Amino acid sequence: MACGSPTDTSTGDPPVVAEADTGTAASDPDGGTEPADTGAATGEDSATGEDSATGEDTAKADSGMTTPETGDDAKPGCALPPKDCSGTPTYCGELVPFEPVKGIGYDNYPLNGETLSNQYRSYARRDLMILVKYAAAYVECYGKSWTPGNGAPIGLGDMSEKNGAIPGTSVGSPGHPAGTHTNGNDMDIAYFQTAGTNNYLRAVCPHTSGGVDQYHCVGAPTILDVKRTALFLGAFLLSDRTRIIGVDGKVGPLVIPEMQKLCDAGTLPKLACDRKSMVTYETTDTGRGWYKFHHHHLHISLKKLAADWSPGPSEMFSPESSATPFELERLEHGHVLGHAHVE
Ligand SMILES: [Zn+2]
Repeated sequence: MACGSPTDTSTGDPPVVAEADTGTAASDPDGGTEPADTGAATGEDSATGEDSATGEDTAKADSGMTTPETGDDAKPGCALPPKDCSGTPTYCGELVPFEPVKGIGYDNYPLNGETLSNQYRSYARRDLMILVKYAAAYVECYGKSWTPGNGAPIGLGDMSEKNGAIPGTSVGSPGHPAGTHTNGNDMDIAYFQTAGTNNYLRAVCPHTSGGVDQYHCVGAPTILDVKRTALFLGAFLLSDRTRIIGVDGKVGPLVIPEMQKLCDAGTLPKLACDRKSMVTYETTDTGRGWYKFHHHHLHISLKKLAADWSPGPSEMFSPESSATPFELERLEHGHVLGHAHVE
């Protein structure tokens, strides 16, 4: 899908398109217009401003959509959908079905027992849905010509059920630990991949030892599209609403330095890298809940709804549940679809 036509009429959200051709604004991924970003706005602006803007200006089309013409780190003017929901916490926190199921750079395909006509595990807070659409469009446009990578849209996994319950609850098999994937706060999302023809949730690394599944990467990722994944994560960090994003312990050490490169090149605003500690992982099991079951997906969690997004993030997978390790074990042994097993 072309990335110059982001629309979102199904949810009543305004089809906001970043200004297409207003000088440097079009090359500033964050637009720099939101009060919430004031603290970092100077950094972002200088990050884009200190670059020689002439090359990109001449390449810019009126539509705001261009293709990188000078290699990996060219910065096309990208017309992106909105990053954050504007409205009251009640409005932005409303659970909505993630629709349309296919959009710019993403595919909310049916999984874990869903069907095309019954995506019962795919309800998210409106602000989370908006942010995911933004991050997916960001990769679709800015990473368009990058290699390697299969170029497919990113696959979206479990969210919440319509009433805010953990996915699987309505069929008697909640698939995630208590305190996660409730009320549309969290979403499982695939990694971008270098092999195959889609970016659905699947392991991106070897994860068995002695023939036994370890449920985490035991070796270097083999099909991880490091650069697009880093760009995707960085786009999420541009929102003040992002609490934490968890990845596998062998994915984190690859994507975080890559994200820094993207910031240094101006493909991501400096703000993303100022917040890079919000992408978290465990190389050993320290009990924070990230060590296992993130070899086939990343997990993004938003802060609780608030008018002010300032409260610091918790680094826990499930900040309000002390039973997480026990629950993860139960899900693993029971082969419950969701967090531990995806299909
Ligand atoms: Zn999750």
